[in-house]
Order: sequence, then structure tokens, then C-alpha cells
Amino acid sequence: MVLATNLGFPRFGAGRELKKATESYWKGTLSLNDLFKTAKELRLRHWSMQKDAGINHIPSNDFSLYDQILDMCCLLGCVPERYGWSGGTVDIETYFAMARGSKKAPAMEMTKWFDTNYHYIVPEFYKGQTFNLASTKIFDEFEEAKAAGIETRPVLIGPITFLALGKMKDEGLEYQDLVKKLIPVYAQILQKLQKAGATWVQIDEPYLAMDICEGTKEGYKAAYKELAKAAPGLNILATTYFEGLRDNLDLALSLPVQALHLDLRRAPEQLDIVLAKIPKGMMLSLGVVDGRNIWKNDLSASLAMIEKAVAKLGTDRVMVAPSCSLLHSPIDLDLETAMDPQIKSWMAFAAQKLAEIAVLAKGAEKGRDAIQNELTQSDKIVQDRKISDRIHNKIVQDRLAAVTPEMARRKNAFPLRQQAQRARYHLPTFPTTSIGSFPQTPEIRKARAAFKKGDLDRNSYEEAMKKEIAYVVQYQEKIGMDVLVHGEAERNDMVEYFGEQLDGYVFSQHGWVQSYGSRGVKPPIIFGDVSRPRAMTVKWSTYAQSLTQKPMKGMLTGPITILFWSFKRDDVSYETSCKQIALALRDEVADLEKAGITIIQMDEPAIREGLPLRRADWDLYLRWAVESFRLSVCCVEDTTQIHTHMCYSEFNDIIESVGALDADVISIETSRSQMELLDAFVAYKYPNEIGPGVYDIHSPRIPDTAEMVDLLVKAKKVLDPDLIWVNPDCGLKTRGWAEVEPALKNMVDAARTMREKQKKAAA
Ligand code: GLN
Ligand code: ZN
Repeated sequence: MVLATNLGFPRFGAGRELKKATESYWKGTLSLNDLFKTAKELRLRHWSMQKDAGINHIPSNDFSLYDQILDMCCLLGCVPERYGWSGGTVDIETYFAMARGSKKAPAMEMTKWFDTNYHYIVPEFYKGQTFNLASTKIFDEFEEAKAAGIETRPVLIGPITFLALGKMKDEGLEYQDLVKKLIPVYAQILQKLQKAGATWVQIDEPYLAMDICEGTKEGYKAAYKELAKAAPGLNILATTYFEGLRDNLDLALSLPVQALHLDLRRAPEQLDIVLAKIPKGMMLSLGVVDGRNIWKNDLSASLAMIEKAVAKLGTDRVMVAPSCSLLHSPIDLDLETAMDPQIKSWMAFAAQKLAEIAVLAKGAEKGRDAIQNELTQSDKIVQDRKISDRIHNKIVQDRLAAVTPEMARRKNAFPLRQQAQRARYHLPTFPTTSIGSFPQTPEIRKARAAFKKGDLDRNSYEEAMKKEIAYVVQYQEKIGMDVLVHGEAERNDMVEYFGEQLDGYVFSQHGWVQSYGSRGVKPPIIFGDVSRPRAMTVKWSTYAQSLTQKPMKGMLTGPITILFWSFKRDDVSYETSCKQIALALRDEVADLEKAGITIIQMDEPAIREGLPLRRADWDLYLRWAVESFRLSVCCVEDTTQIHTHMCYSEFNDIIESVGALDADVISIETSRSQMELLDAFVAYKYPNEIGPGVYDIHSPRIPDTAEMVDLLVKAKKVLDPDLIWVNPDCGLKTRGWAEVEPALKNMVDAARTMREKQKKAAA
């Protein structure tokens, strides 16, 4: 029979119960027992939901109190020494210390899970690394479900992916040696699961769909040979997701596993070749329902793919699945009570996706007639979206079609622009500025909440924000900043703020997706062609400018960042959406310039995370990303100075494209790495002006003048001093005034010191 299966489910709960419980536990207002109780209730609730939806293979151990990779570290006894763990089962204090740090030891590093916005804890490997079974979670949860009458398919991160995700912290560690040490523990886990009654396990190996080296390929072969022997009779499903198998296809098909999962949303074209090559007896899990997005499935199109597989393999060798774990979708569309009904009718969150999977499995098993109603309904939705004039805006499309290369080019090259800008602004050397936001104080948040609720009228809200802006302007004047900002008090979030003012966007009330630990994000949703009905920031920026003689920098979020921090359309390319957003921003840039705001910053912190997972796809992405950015800003006079800002970025891979953005000034994060991140710019001979961050805003620490001077001296050694700006690493919105005031004052003093040094050297 065609099985309806799932790979993982969101953990927080419809009311974000898990988030609230863990945070209360950390605060000390909830007992450990109560935290465990909430966790257990959520697991049972979610397993039941899946069972009721008709899912045959329900995952367990996909739940986590913090992160599934952290859980794997504990399962495998891979606990860094600094936590003082003395062996045995990893206890909850150690677990949370690894996640969040403790008085004794800093937290483990966190990084992005492939190209999602989920962040995992990075495993650490040291000289003399050993592994041993050190957690019972995966077994406990299997038993827990069984006791509730639900048979589950336990989920593990596979050994090769686990190693690939981690970091070798010592020199001289041998990869193959780590593989060898890891396998016996995995073997033990499989044996224990089998003994407990599991018939299937899901082993996630997303690295099978990434660019991997020969050593890793060897690792795969060696590991799975052993795992297949470890628990004969226990069926292994190896999953890949977020990309197609491509050059690793033969490797994947050669592994001695009972089933292989394919992401057919990201790479539908791989189905044919897999069907042509699949060995006898291997089952296929077809990831046809998008686990990363919020759109309803096109059931007819999915069924066509499944039928193709069934025709070749028979019903007994086919599973229907989401493309990846549903962890990356919001939990339940039914919670959305305020959403426009037509737009809502196009969507499916995790709970609705379960139903889609079950229907598809039924259709594949019993024939199209058995699900005729659902198919008709789905076809209608597909058609509705195809022709809806709420999605398709002819004006936007015509405008995009008429874009010319000149529109993405400044009037003159940087050296001429630089001259023009210097003549206009007369800034000192080492000019000081900030990245945009100032502290989002409790008062600001309270005012916004009251305004949203309707307790505060628009006028009073705007007056309150103006007062904040005035304060920020005054403060910057007082300490002697050169290029001022208005502080972004009126913005909830750098993407949401623009999404709310653009056509083609819709917002959910409960569309939370886990970002890391107890933190979630609620991405805005792009549902149609994007356009700007009216100016978005001009009023605020001109107000701020009216308060000062100094230049006021206009602040915008760039098209790439707006795209990647939103749920995207699945009916047009990313490039199309990105360029539509770019055109909308272009109008804003033009309006700002017209209104006398002639220093404008277009933030692009997401440019690097948009990089495709496979290198072969990078060039194409970078080409349209750069074009989009340039399209958004290249409508201004030479005297108008375009800034951009990027943070959390390793630039080596993309430095040429960063150069190609051709911003007059770029500010980047460099203080934590002691200017190391500058290397890429130096090696590339980055020609335009650059502000290497000198104040680490991620820490409450207040840097003193001397240490910022040190950093600037370092920067001056490798860059032309005439190109250097002085600024913090990122926006200040998460900091308090008590830290920001002295820190920025010290920063301005550091710039002054640099100028004096320069004068002395010249004299
Ligand atoms: N202008 C934004 C701010 O200052 C930039 C934030 C970011 O780069 N993440 O908050
Ligand atoms: Zn930043």
C-alpha cells in the first residue's frame, strides 16, 4: 500500500506552549517537572494529530527542547569538556548549558540549518574524541508514543551529516577516524530501537544532496555498510532534502537502505532518473508537499508524479511525504482568523499539509476517483491563483519587462561620484555614522502595541515616535556624529515594516516558525506581484532631517533581504519577486532623493544566506541578486551617496558580488573577529568606501575609546585611510541606552583620535 508519511513536525505547539514553558523554566518560574509535562503533552497532541490525519509513518524524536542537533550531541556523548560533564546520561543542566552557556562555560556555536532560517547547535570534535550512548531520549519518546497506542518512526541525524555539520576544534583530527568511532554508537542505537519494537528508522542525511568530497562519499559507503549489518530487519529510510541528489545519485542509490527520500519540490526533475536507476527492492519516499512554504499543494500535479513512481515500482514501494520536516512551516492555518479569506484559501500550514499527504497517498492507492472531490477543489485553487488579479498586476509585470541594463547602472563610476560627494558633504576623514536603529525601548514597544490594538490613535502614536526621533537626533548631534540616522523607532522589524506597506504582501497572526531554541519568527508572506502604493519612509526621514543641519541618512531594507526573510511565492521565480521588490524600493529611493535625503542606506544582511546550497548555482543567483540591488538604488545623482550594510557575513565566497553592488559605502561586521573579516576586502582590493564595525553591538559590553582606536589602526594598515568610515557592527535596537550612549561617544572619540594621529603624521 502507498504509505502516507511525515518527516517531522513543528514543536512549539499552536499556542507556542513550548516556547513559553522553556523560557519560564530558564527564568525559574516553572519547575522542571512542569516543563517536561508540557513537552509530553505537546508530543502526544502532535502524534495524535498526525494519526488522526491518516499518517502511517509518524516520526518520533523529531521533538526537541532546544534543537535536534544538540539532542544528537547528547545521544552520542559528544559533550565538550568545558561543561564538566562526567559521563553517564547527559543531564538537563548540561543540556541547556551547551545551548545557552552557563557561568562556567560559553554556549556552543549556532549556525544556520542549510538554507533555512532555523539555527542548529554546531557539534564540536576534539583530539581524542570518543562517542558513547549518553541519552535515552530517542528510546523514551518511542516508548511514550507506543504507550499511547501510536507506533512511530524514530528520527536520527545520520552519522555523515552529523560529522559534516560539526567543527573540528583541534588540529590533526582524522575524518575517517571519527566515522569509525561514531558507527558503533549508531549501531547500538539501531539495535536498541529494534529491540523496543521499531520497524522503521528515519536517518536524515541531507548532505547526500550537497557538494561533498571523496572522503565524505567514502564515509557514506563505510557507515551504511555497517549500519545495515547492525540491525538486520530494521528498515532504514535515508532522507535527503533542500536539494537534488545530482552527482551523488549513484552513491545514494548504492547505500544498503530500504528506502530513500527525495525532495521533489526543490528538485522534481530527479524523479525520472531515480526511477530509471533505483535498485530492486528499494522504496522511494516522494517529498511532494512543500515543507518550507505555506502554499496549498497542487494535488493533481503531485499525484501525477506519484502515479509515475507507482507505475514503475508498485504501490508497496512508494511513500508520500513532505519535501522536508514540517518544522519549517507554521503549525495550523485554522488559527488565522483575520486573514483575507481568498488568500487564506490558497494556503496550507503543517496541519493542512498532513491532510494533503494522506489524500495523495489515498489517491495513489485507490485511484483518482477515490479523491475526486479533493482534486477538483485543488484544481480550482490552482486556477484561482493563476488568474487572480490580486496576484497578477499587469503594471508591475510590464514595468519589470521594460527594465533596461542602464537602469542598474549609476550615471558615473565610483571615483567621479566620490569627488562629487566629497564636494557636497565635506565630511572629515574617518566619518562617523551608525547602522540605523537605536534602542527599541519598552516605551516604544508599548506605544506600538497600543497603536496596533487601537488603544492609541495614529496621531498620538506618530507624535510619540517623533519624540523618539528628536531625542536620537539630538543625542547624535551632541556627541558629534557626522552622518545621522533617525533611529528606526517606528519600525517593528526591518522586513515586516516594508512588507506592511507593500502591495502583494499578507501577514499571519500565528504563522510562527522556529528560528532557534525558544525563538521563532513570523515571516511576512509574499502572495502576489509586489508594488509600492505610496512612499514608505519619506515622512520620517524628512522630519528627522528638519531637526538638524547634519546629513540625515535614509534607511531602507534591500530587495534580497526582503525576499529571503519572507515566505516566497511558488508560482514565479525568486528573481522575479526580488526585482519587483527592487522596483518598489527604487521609487522610494527616488522619492527620498527628491525630498532632500541624499545619503541612503540599503541594508542587505541576507545576501549571503540566499546563496544556493550547490556551488554550481551560485553564479546565477549572484547575478540576479546584484542586479536587483543595483536596480533598487541606481536612479540617483552622483552626489547622492548610497550605503549598504551587511552583517553576520563571511565575505570570501561572495566578495566579487559585494564589489559589484557598487555601493558608495559599505558597513560590515568586523569587531568580534578583530578585523579579520576585512581580509576578503583587502585581498580583493575593494575600491569603494568601507566602514568596518568597531563596536560589537551583540554584547552589552561598552567598548572604550582605546580599543576602538586599536581596531581602526588595524583597519588603516590594510585599507586606504581615506576610505574608512567609523561605525558599529550593526543596528542598536536590541541594546539599552545605558550602553549605547557611552559606547557611541567613545566611538566618536576614537574617530577624532584617528584624525589627530593623521594630522600629526602629516605635520
Ligand atoms: N538598519 C538596520 C538596523 O540598524 C539593520 C539591521 C541588520 O542589519 N540586521 O537595525
Ligand atoms: Zn546588521
